[in-house]
Amino acid sequence: MTTKGPASKCPVLTTGEGAPIARQHALTAGPRGPVLMQDAQLLEQMQRFNRERIPERVVHAKGSGAYGTFTVTHDITRFTKASIFSKVGKKTECFARLSTVAGERGAADAERDVRGFAVKFYTDEGNWDMVGNNTPVFFVRDPYKFANFIHTQKREPASNLRCNDMQWDFWSQCPESLHQVTILFSDRGIPATLRNMNGYSSHTYSFINAAGERFWCKFHFKTNQGIKNLSCEESAELIGRDRESHQRDLFGAIERGEFPCWTLKVQIMTQAQADEWSLRTGWNPFDLTKVWPHADFPLIEVGRMELNRNPENYFAEVEQAAFKPSALVPGISSSPDKMLQARLMSYADTHMYRVGVNHHQIPVNKPRCPVMHYMRDGEGATAETYASAPNYWPNTRAGTPMPDENFLDPAWDLGQAVVDRYDSTQDHDDFTQAGNLYRMFDDAHRDRLTTRIAGALGDARQEIQKRQLCHFFRADEDYGKRIAKKLGIDIEAAMAGHHAAAGA
Ligand code: NDP
Repeated sequence: MTTKGPASKCPVLTTGEGAPIARQHALTAGPRGPVLMQDAQLLEQMQRFNRERIPERVVHAKGSGAYGTFTVTHDITRFTKASIFSKVGKKTECFARLSTVAGERGAADAERDVRGFAVKFYTDEGNWDMVGNNTPVFFVRDPYKFANFIHTQKREPASNLRCNDMQWDFWSQCPESLHQVTILFSDRGIPATLRNMNGYSSHTYSFINAAGERFWCKFHFKTNQGIKNLSCEESAELIGRDRESHQRDLFGAIERGEFPCWTLKVQIMTQAQADEWSLRTGWNPFDLTKVWPHADFPLIEVGRMELNRNPENYFAEVEQAAFKPSALVPGISSSPDKMLQARLMSYADTHMYRVGVNHHQIPVNKPRCPVMHYMRDGEGATAETYASAPNYWPNTRAGTPMPDENFLDPAWDLGQAVVDRYDSTQDHDDFTQAGNLYRMFDDAHRDRLTTRIAGALGDARQEIQKRQLCHFFRADEDYGKRIAKKLGIDIEAAMAGHHAAAGA
């Protein structure tokens, strides 16, 4: 059977090299085959198909993305010289990717999980990536535990199943996770949509102002759509009929012109306040498992982020989007947070593996300001940026990029720091803030929280259940008692364990 030429007005189909294609049928010796090796057109199509996937993100594999605009509404130039915040009314283009953490690329959207909240701001002094979550804290504070923790959230090696025993085995031995575990099993554990959740930097960063003063800061993106969540029953019903519910909701809302927006607020801490607060509370301002209470460090309003444009191609723009906390700009810098320090390396590294060493040259990742450096070549390099410019420094060629002392960060005084491998579980209060959160919940919320926890913890071995129960008791006696009761564990015996542990 022959096929007629292309319908009028349609562009002509071509090969990857742009050569016109006459027919999309395999080239065969006779109508029944075999296929000829010389059918380069067919071979190209099959080879390209084999290479369609890039490695899936180990975490945050399933995500939804959209472009938007960030507008400054309040002046914070006393804290930072970052060009994005330089003037009230200033607008900066951004791209956000909101994701689940544990599920693979095909996992359902409406599962109980932390959500990633990553935003790339294309500032005129480079890309600033704010790579946070929808929770203000994280499960661990020592980066050594990160890969281990993620293994417990993924699949058990033999069965390839998610495994509650594995998760609680880890959590019960890492009491610093209790705060985040409480949030995860609270009503905020399953956002109704990606539009109805907050975003947090979680980490402490630093702001640097024009006078070279450093302030510690945390970023909060408060949803203007209001917080809305799904119950376990609602999420099960939703997943049964739509595995892509959150992607569908975000994409559809933007298509309809219902642009979701968030108010950006910051908390600020001076070094003197950090010293005083540490002394008073015993908490480390750079500990990722802790919040800074609003009463001590009130939220300061900064601006408004609106998502208003869907990507045209999911793979090119959302899958290849590469966010890294190390993408910082003058006026925004890092902090001693151990987890942040590790992520500064790890995220940049994973993109080099996943998307390639030249991932910055892909349009969604490409800075909107000039890029000038001496790093060159590698897979996927284009000459667009560097052309024939020299590839070494120092050089004496005219017009080549030079470092500028004006962008120097203030020196960082580490005092008498002693280098050692410090145990991140020793001498920490992992219970007060988790208890504060529990005590904020009304009776019905406490009941739902403890029912969910008992449901999941009940799958773990009894020794794990008992170890974990001690943590709940330490956060709040009522928290422990309710879970013990729902697990069918003798409360008196569990309390005896608690008192023994507290006295240890
Ligand atoms: P505040 O009363 O000033 O603030 C309570 C905060 O808790 C609000 O930001 C609220 O968010 C948030 N919240 C309410 N329900 C949940 C939930 N189920 N999961 C996560 N967050 C929730 O209290 P403090 O600042 O003194 O903090 C008390 C506790 O609140 C902390 O131990 C921490 O667990 C939690 N929290 C604190 C935050 C902070 O930065 N200080 C940020 C988020 C939580 P919203 O205003 O959006 O409703």
